[in-house]
Amino acid sequence: MAPLILHALEKRFGPGAPAVRDLSLTVRDGRFLALLGPSGCGKTTVLRMIAGFEQPTDGSILLGERLLADAATMVPPERRNMAMVFQSYALWPHMTVAENVGYPLKVRKVDRERARQKVCEALAAVRLEAYADRRPAALSGGQRQRVALARCLVTEPDVVLLDEPLANLDRHLRQEMEETFREFHARSGATMIYVTHDQSEAMALATDVAVMSEGRLLQMASPEEIYARPEGLVVGGLVGQGSILSLRLPPGSGRLLDWPRLRDAFQGTEEGLMPADVLVRPQDVVLDATGLAARVTSSFFEGERYALRLELANGQSLRAFSRQPVRAGDTTSVVLASGWRL
Ligand code: ADP
Ligand code: MG
Repeated sequence: MAPLILHALEKRFGPGAPAVRDLSLTVRDGRFLALLGPSGCGKTTVLRMIAGFEQPTDGSILLGERLLADAATMVPPERRNMAMVFQSYALWPHMTVAENVGYPLKVRKVDRERARQKVCEALAAVRLEAYADRRPAALSGGQRQRVALARCLVTEPDVVLLDEPLANLDRHLRQEMEETFREFHARSGATMIYVTHDQSEAMALATDVAVMSEGRLLQMASPEEIYARPEGLVVGGLVGQGSILSLRLPPGSGRLLDWPRLRDAFQGTEEGLMPADVLVRPQDVVLDATGLAARVTSSFFEGERYALRLELANGQSLRAFSRQPVRAGDTTSVVLASGWRL
C-alpha cells in the first residue's frame, strides 16, 4: 500500500483557535503510528479527517498519489478502504460474535462460504474462535474489544484507525489488549493509527509516535527517539518519567549534558550563562557520596525498587530510583549522570 500523507492539514469548527493546524506527517505502509497528546488537542479530529467523517478546512490527505480530501474534495468513508474502531465497541447486541464480525461482509454481499472463512480467520487473529456463537452481553470488555477489532479486519482495510480503544478497560485488561494489538499489527501487516492520551500505551505499542498539543504536531519519531531526545518542554513533560530542572548553562553547551556540565550548571555563577530547561530521567540520578546534597521527600516501594522524590539544596525537585531501602526524611547525595536540554 502507498503511504498515507497528511499535508498542512487544518480543521476549524468555528471562530477561535482551529482544532487542528498546519499538521503534516507521513505514515508509511505497515507502520503503527500512535497519535499522542492531552485531551482536547485534536487527535480525534485528525482521525475523523483521515476516515472521511470530517472535511479539512485547509491542507490535504493523500494515499500515495490519490487525493482523499482537501477543502474542495471529499472521498466518502466507504471508498477509502479504512476501518475505524471506536472507544465504544458498537456491537449489535442481538447478533452473535460471528454475525457481528461478518456484518460488513454481508453489507458488501460477499459470497457466504467466503464470508464464513474470513470470519473464522478474523476471529482466529484475535483468539476468539471459541466464542463465535456467543452474544456480546456474554463477553468481557476485552473480548468485546477484540470482536470490534475482528470486525474491522474482515474487510481487509489498508489503514486501521483506533480512537482510544482501551480507555474503558481496567489496567490488567489493558496490558493484555496491548499484546493483542501488537500481535494484530504483526499478523495483519495493516497500517495502524492509534489515538491515545496515555504515553506508556503509545510507547509500548507503536513503531512511531506523533506528539500533538493544541492542534499542532510537536514531534514525530520512534518511541526510543522521543524518549531520549524530546523536542521542547511539552514533549519532555509528556513522555516518560523524569524531572525538568531550571539550570544556567554556558552558550554552546549542546543538548546532551554529562555530569561535569550538570554539576557546573548547579554551581554556576559566571557571567553570560543562559537559562535552560534540562530533563533528567530517574535512572540517570545515581545515589553517590561525591554528588550534590539532597533530601528525600518521599519514597515508595514499587516491588523492584524504591521510587524517590528528592529535593536539592536549591529547592529543585528530582525523581530517582533506588534498589536499597531509602526513607522519607533521609539525607543523601546524587550524581546526575546525564541530562537533555529541552
Ligand atoms: P482529542 O481527541 O485530542 O481529545 P478532539 O479532536 O476531540 O480532541 O477536539 C479538539 C478540539 O476541537 C476541542 O476543542 C473540541 O472541543 C473541538 N471539536 C471537536 N469536534 C468538534 C465539533 N464537531 N464541533 C465543534 N468543535 C469540535
Ligand atoms: Mg478524542
